[in-house]
Amino acid sequence: MLLTYWRELYLIKYFVEPSDEAALEAVSKAFADCPRQQLVRDPNHCSECIKAEQYLTSLDRSDVALADIGDRLGFDCFSMITDEGFRHFVPALCRIALQERPAGIGHLLLRLDRAHTIIVEPHQREAIVEFLDYIKVMRYIDWNHEIGHLTQIRNRFTQQPESA
Ligand SMILES: [Zn+2]
Repeated sequence: MLLTYWRELYLIKYFVEPSDEAALEAVSKAFADCPRQQLVRDPNHCSECIKAEQYLTSLDRSDVALADIGDRLGFDCFSMITDEGFRHFVPALCRIALQERPAGIGHLLLRLDRAHTIIVEPHQREAIVEFLDYIKVMRYIDWNHEIGHLTQIRNRFTQQPESA
């Protein structure tokens, strides 16, 4: 009953029947124009940066999995990614969130936590809000523990980005 209510609100707001495919399609479209550029901020800074640059360059956003962007190198190389690199991988983070629930969703929220200063294009911010609304509507999260965090992140993307 409640689920139906939320699904209907979603439908009215986004003109699309909620489905994983439609949710991912919307994100992919919004971030289609984010080419892979330099991935690590200072690739020659130290041996970890060199390793991270090589490793991240080997990843493809169309098929990367949660294990690939964890600490496979012994450190969190994904956290060293540039803003452009992060935006490039957003569709992958969203796909992983749906494919590898619930860990993938926890991971997406972790990565999006500070990303409201990285994702600044209005249509991309809207796509993030829409995707988080979708996760909420589908109740893909641990309602007691994660809904507050998700809502907090979502609402940051509805406000104007703070100037850097
Ligand atoms: Zn370094």
